Amino acid sequence: MQAPRSVLRVALPLPLPRTFDYLPPPGVAAATVVAGQRIVVPFAGRELCGIVVGHGDPEPGIEPKPALALPEALPLLQGELLASLQWLAGYLHAPLGDVLANALPAVLRRGEPLADTTRHGWRLAEAGCTALPAMRAGRPQALAALLADVRDEAWLDAEHAGWRAPMRGLRERGLVERVALHQERGPFPAAPTQPAPVLNPEQRSAADAIRAADGFASFLLDGVTGSGKTEVYLDAIGDCLARGRQALVLVPEIGLTPQALARFRARLGVPVHALHSGLGDGERAATWLAAMRGQARVIVGTRSAVFVPLPEAGLVVVDEEHDGSYKQFDGIRYHARDFAIVRARALGVPVVLGSATPALESLHNAQSGRHAHLRLRHRAGAARPPAVRVLDVRKRPLQAGLSGESLDAIRAALQAGGQVLVFKNRRGYAPVLLCHDCGWSAHCTRCGTPEKPSAMTVHGGGRRLQCHHCGHRRAVPLACPDCASLGLQPQGAGTERIEEVLQERFAGNTVLRIDRGSSGHRDALQKHFEALGAQPGILVGTQMLAKGHDLPNLTLVVVVGVDEGLFSADFRSAEKLAQLLVQVAGRAGRADKPGTVLVQTHHPDHPLLHTLIAGGYHAFADAELQQREAAGFPPFTYLALLRAEAKHADPPMQFLQQARDLLGDAGIEISGPLPAPMPRRAGYLRTQLVLSAPERRRLHAALDTLLPRLHALPAARKLRWSLDVDPVELY
Ligand code: ADP
Ligand code: ZN
Ligand code: ZN
Repeated sequence: MQAPRSVLRVALPLPLPRTFDYLPPPGVAAATVVAGQRIVVPFAGRELCGIVVGHGDPEPGIEPKPALALPEALPLLQGELLASLQWLAGYLHAPLGDVLANALPAVLRRGEPLADTTRHGWRLAEAGCTALPAMRAGRPQALAALLADVRDEAWLDAEHAGWRAPMRGLRERGLVERVALHQERGPFPAAPTQPAPVLNPEQRSAADAIRAADGFASFLLDGVTGSGKTEVYLDAIGDCLARGRQALVLVPEIGLTPQALARFRARLGVPVHALHSGLGDGERAATWLAAMRGQARVIVGTRSAVFVPLPEAGLVVVDEEHDGSYKQFDGIRYHARDFAIVRARALGVPVVLGSATPALESLHNAQSGRHAHLRLRHRAGAARPPAVRVLDVRKRPLQAGLSGESLDAIRAALQAGGQVLVFKNRRGYAPVLLCHDCGWSAHCTRCGTPEKPSAMTVHGGGRRLQCHHCGHRRAVPLACPDCASLGLQPQGAGTERIEEVLQERFAGNTVLRIDRGSSGHRDALQKHFEALGAQPGILVGTQMLAKGHDLPNLTLVVVVGVDEGLFSADFRSAEKLAQLLVQVAGRAGRADKPGTVLVQTHHPDHPLLHTLIAGGYHAFADAELQQREAAGFPPFTYLALLRAEAKHADPPMQFLQQARDLLGDAGIEISGPLPAPMPRRAGYLRTQLVLSAPERRRLHAALDTLLPRLHALPAARKLRWSLDVDPVELY
């Protein structure tokens, strides 16, 4: 007879590649506990909240401890989601407990029971009905006015973010009351407030192909900027909702603007739940749970939204699928686009990857037939593509990097009532502070190597120095530390300095700077844009400007200095630069206003610029894919990067050498251990080992044997190390 399977296998949020066995809490039978449930257990004198991943038999001679509690009777990670996350942990060779914890909203990672699993809504109390007509206009009054009917909290979350504080005030005044809701779901009170445009033939055939998908299918919606990709998503989402299913839409961090959400809301007629880093922990958890219960029908979110439960999934969309923000750079190094495809397959639903500049991986997958390739070659409606011109700025006088020709074009565009975008991929005032007398320049003491320390960027209008690698800040010295000269001069121009020059030159016009320094806060950014409206004005910024807020009056784009990107060593830098140029250029000339793009360069004959401007993104991509194939880079080989760092150079080098020895003759290519291209950051010496193989299977087989052995090395606990599967940067 088989012994009863009395032990629970628990994945704990620890960087260890194993599960732990526990007995169920006293009084609970193991058989009633389901995989995916949260469980609170004692561990090394602490309490940890883990996830039950299965049942097992006690190992001989080991007496498992009883767990402390099961916070709820339902599994939070159920079915497909749990299985997909288990797959992800295996693929990333990351500890399962870490991966599962990472998928939960922060509030739910702790073991506290869910405050309340019944749904609640709000309505006016009797006193509220009486008081409403006489209330002063404002947020509380507007909120109260909505509550003649009971409003679901999920609806309030989706449609009136930030409602909780004013609602508390109303409750304290006895004007509103919270009531439990009984029916399982909806009906939500919203309805489309904006009609859909008639899709053009290209859009229609793309949308029809997606609608026709029966079960899993992956599509690359490859459409030039302004070709109406969003309309195709909206059509597919509308169809998905009509079939009674949920839709998940992933957008890049910068793409999730209030403007974009408003467009979705107005067009779909159901609440749209946003999920992004700007929300509070409580709001994130509420939305995640609403998705789990099937209450949230459309979830639009950034990277980590790929982890929402979708019990009634019908469609997954990844907008701007090439965007770098989909890759997580620390902790669990997953790629949200790739995991979205895995989930869609497991859920048996179509997934649409959209971009004007598809990642070379995705193009390659489309060319090899793995994704259906849907093309939108023309701009929707009346808009024409912008005219792109390369400006050779060699030997031209430049002011904060801007040539006379660019300045003239800006003046003309403003005079014609247009808006101008000036793009420079360098934030701060100037990239270097130089002593004009002795050649000293400001460097970070903690980054770069002694031979080549990394420069500190000048910020704060020339008063402050900041290291963009480690964040270290200090004041600009009054005099040169080497020769005491007062001739310290900022060299080159970042966005701050360009802003300063444009403000001087075009006094009387609005000049808005958009970069991580100026607009960390999402709402602040939105306010800026609203203040600008349709007036003539200039936007100066970094890649944050490549997408996001729609600017219908934008007639001129000036790209200042692409040259840094043309000669970077990273194998992906050409792809990134081409994407950035095409995306920034694509912002010009929407609607009925034709646009112009000026690209300033000291290398007008560079092949990348040539191919891109003469042949467009696809000509560039074809050439670049050929080069990648010849050089043996992704997508033709598969990479994994093992990184190690410590305060001294030897331990990381030795650790990675041990890894190399452990790999032995695994039939994969190994390069290193070598210092990372950025060999020292924040005082840590960084070393890396690059593993590559022409087949994914071979690489993963090698990692499968390597990782447990690596974890077992004593050195593994004495330094920081990480494995990055499919690294985006070899940095
Ligand atoms: P993309 O997402 O490809 O950049 P959008 O979906 O934002 O493009 O569409 C660009 C602009 O064209 C928007 O202003 C949109 O309203 C408009 N548009 C899209 N499709 C159509 C259509 N079929 N008819 C008229 N206008 C359209
Ligand atoms: Zn000096
Ligand atoms: Zn630094």
